[in-house]
Amino acid sequence: MVGALVGALVPSACKKEEDDGFEPVDFSGGDETKSKTKTKKADPEPTPDPEPPTPDPKPAPTPAPRRPVTDDPINRHDTGYLRQRAQAVLADLVAALPEPQRSQMRPIPLGFDNRPGEVNAFAACVKGRAFMVMTDGLMEIQAQMARARAHDERFGTEKLDAYAALVARGQRRGQAVPRPPSNFYETAKDQDANKVARQRHLLDEGLAFVLGHELAHHYLSHTGCVGTDATALTPADIARAVTIKVPAFNQANELASDLYGIQNVLAAGRPKRPAWREDGALLTLRFFLEVRRAHGGGVLFDFESTHPHPDVRRPVVTQAAETWRRTGGQALPVLKLPKLR
Ligand SMILES: [Zn+2]
Repeated sequence: MVGALVGALVPSACKKEEDDGFEPVDFSGGDETKSKTKTKKADPEPTPDPEPPTPDPKPAPTPAPRRPVTDDPINRHDTGYLRQRAQAVLADLVAALPEPQRSQMRPIPLGFDNRPGEVNAFAACVKGRAFMVMTDGLMEIQAQMARARAHDERFGTEKLDAYAALVARGQRRGQAVPRPPSNFYETAKDQDANKVARQRHLLDEGLAFVLGHELAHHYLSHTGCVGTDATALTPADIARAVTIKVPAFNQANELASDLYGIQNVLAAGRPKRPAWREDGALLTLRFFLEVRRAHGGGVLFDFESTHPHPDVRRPVVTQAAETWRRTGGQALPVLKLPKLR
């Protein structure tokens, strides 16, 4: 178990996957498949926009039809791409934090746990130093829920619920997360450029929600690691930490992390085109609620027993996002509170 994690944490272990041509950047530049970021359903406004991008957060008109994306990393379940996106998203989140949290959290190691069937993310301390772990299983589910949702938005289907039912039916402890069968999508729709752009955007928003939440556990002093230098940790240190009991469930801490985490997502995503919103967060919560329903109401993944019910978290996310926008992007100050244990 630990060996698998160590392998995942050693940079060279995933180097090959990281060298497959996808840059750890946002979608504002690069090749044709990544540079077009208009992700809403087809917009009837055909007017070409000769102006350079402005700070206006409203989505711009969708450009002319684009060629199919035949090699999308989400469509082909590319774990290396998902890890790259997670690292890039985390860097954006940290950069958007106010001081002194930004300095305290930089750099913070993010480890990947590749044990099959593990669907989880957590923040913890080792030797008084902060780190975070995300499992490949959770990232795969986030990528596939983004794929399904983007398909539903574009083509009016119900792939998201079908994928949730597939996971609820097929998930087994210690086994890889079930994948949609090859006939789950029509190839032409699965490769549609607008739909692919939308799924990449939703994936980034979803990763940002999970990582922003875990990051908040650190700078809100839930883990006791604020202000420590994490650079001295070795992969073995972090691997060992996976066997340590994750802090007990604490609803107040969890909801505070959701509140600060989503505001961090919005701040980090403000310069993106289109800007990050809370859609990826709400998608993640909705999906796991749907899985729970389809599974008969029981807990299927470990993280469900360490986090509040999605019905409790959704209004917190929505309210925090609306407050952030209404106040012109003023995030809540980080208050010095006694540790809640
Ligand atoms: Zn949490």
